[in-house]
This record gives sequence, C-alpha cells and structure tokens, in this order.
Amino acid sequence: MGHSHSHSHTPGPTAGGQRRLWPMVVAVGLIGGYFVVELVTGILVNSLALIADAGHMLTDVVALVMGLIALLLGRHGRITDTRSFGWHRAEVFTAVANAVLLMGVAVFVLYEAVERIGNDPQVPGLTLIVVALVGLAVNIGVMFLLRADAKESIAVRGAYLEVLADAVGSVGVLIAGIVAMTTGWGYADIVVAVLIALWVVPRAVRLAVDALRILNQQAPAHVDVEALRADLAEIPTVDDVHDLHVWTLTTGMDVATVHLGSAQPNAEVLPAAQAVLARHGLEHATVQVDPDDGQRRCRDELTW
Ligand SMILES: [Zn+2]
Repeated sequence: MGHSHSHSHTPGPTAGGQRRLWPMVVAVGLIGGYFVVELVTGILVNSLALIADAGHMLTDVVALVMGLIALLLGRHGRITDTRSFGWHRAEVFTAVANAVLLMGVAVFVLYEAVERIGNDPQVPGLTLIVVALVGLAVNIGVMFLLRADAKESIAVRGAYLEVLADAVGSVGVLIAGIVAMTTGWGYADIVVAVLIALWVVPRAVRLAVDALRILNQQAPAHVDVEALRADLAEIPTVDDVHDLHVWTLTTGMDVATVHLGSAQPNAEVLPAAQAVLARHGLEHATVQVDPDDGQRRCRDELTW
C-alpha cells in the first residue's frame, strides 16, 4: 500500500573503521582515580570546594564510562529484530542521570555551605593547592589523550568537553587554596564550592532539557517542521500531508515518518518526498503514499 523506506544510511560520526579504545580506557582510569583521591581528601580535610569539585568529577566519570561503553559496543550495539534501534537511546538516559547527579551535587553543596556559615571554616591551603595541581595535570593529560578522537566521535567529544569544563573547577580549588594559605581566610573554600555548584546548574538544566526533548519525541530544534510540511505539499499530485512525525533517536540521528495523500501517485512522488526530507536533514525517513481510500482510513479510523 505504497509503503516505502528511504535507506540512505549516511555514515555516522563514528563510521570509518576501528576506534582506538586505549585513550578512553586511560582517561577513565585517570579521572576515576583522581575522583576518589579528591573526594577522600576533601572529606579528610573538610574542604567543601574539594567535595564539590569531586562531585562534578563523578559526572565526568559517568560520561567517560558511557562513552567507553558506546565505543565498545561499536557505537551503539548490535541491531536485532527485537532491539531494532540498538542501544542508541542509552546516551539519552545517561544525560538524564548525569543532569540529576549534577543537580544533586549542587543542592548538597549549597546546603553544606549554609551549614558551615559562622563556623570559621579552616582548610589546609597547601593541600588544596597540591590536589588542584594534580587535578589540572590529570585534566590536561586527558584532554590531550582524547583530542584527536573527539573530532570524529560524538561519545568521545562529549567526554572531552566534560573534561575541559572540569579544568575550570580545578582552577577554582587552586584559587581557594592560595587564598586560604596566604590570608588564612577559610571562607574562600566555601565561596569556591558555591561557585562550582552554581556553575554546573545551567549545564545540568541544558543537559536535562535536551534529553527530555528527545524522550518526549519532539522535533529537533534545527528542523523547521512547518516549512517541511509546506515543501512536501508542493510535490506534484500530492494534495494532502498528514501523520507527519519528526523526532530524534539520539543526538545526531533524526527520524521522520509521513503520509502523503495523492489521487494519482506517480513514480516521482516517493523520490521527490525523499529529496525534500533529505534537504531538511532527514535522511532516515519512512514515507507512505495514500490513495484516496487510504486517506479516508487515516482520517476517519486512526485517532492518533
Ligand atoms: Zn495516511
């Protein structure tokens, strides 16, 4: 009944042979190890800035591990009949988990900061400086490790950007350490902790909004659905466009389905529709051409 699939699978960002795994493995080891050291040190010396930065590091560890798993599964796992989308959505779930984690860390740090007001906090400045310098070294090292692969893989690029952002946290801890050591003003630790916590909130919100958009099957922001509908209606013999759905499977993979009503469907309708969809960035589309009776069925019998 006029069903057709456009099977123009364009090579994804990770296409093109075997990815190098070892940079991601080393990155997970370095960042994971540093997270443990920073958290334990933060608890031992009672530094909220270290704990806040460690909380932020934890989300990097999650992002790196997920990126590594994505690479291990050969982008997103074997496609099967029952799992026809592989594990593409896994990175969307990870994004939600990471956003919740980041917001949890922010709330915890802000609560702790308020609790510590008036307690004349004292932190060993030198310890903060040493831990921050190690953190900077780890971040810069991992950035160099991932830089080459970040250009080709979304998973690696996400991890790379996380690590880049984390270097800023290390600089904050470094400043808190220098202030505490030179002036003895222990509140620098709390001020930096609050700044790190507040700094991750917009990122967490953006991450959550992007992921929830995808989970809600909303059209990606870069696709103008109204213009797409108008362009499809322009195709010769097409007199109706209905059941148009545009959504994102996962970052960088947009999908569409549409029914085109055409009383005299000719051989050009389908290729023309696929060309219009491709022009709007939708390479993976399923198009159905409805003859007159099919249109009536869609209109009168299907309610969604
Ligand atoms: Zn239809």
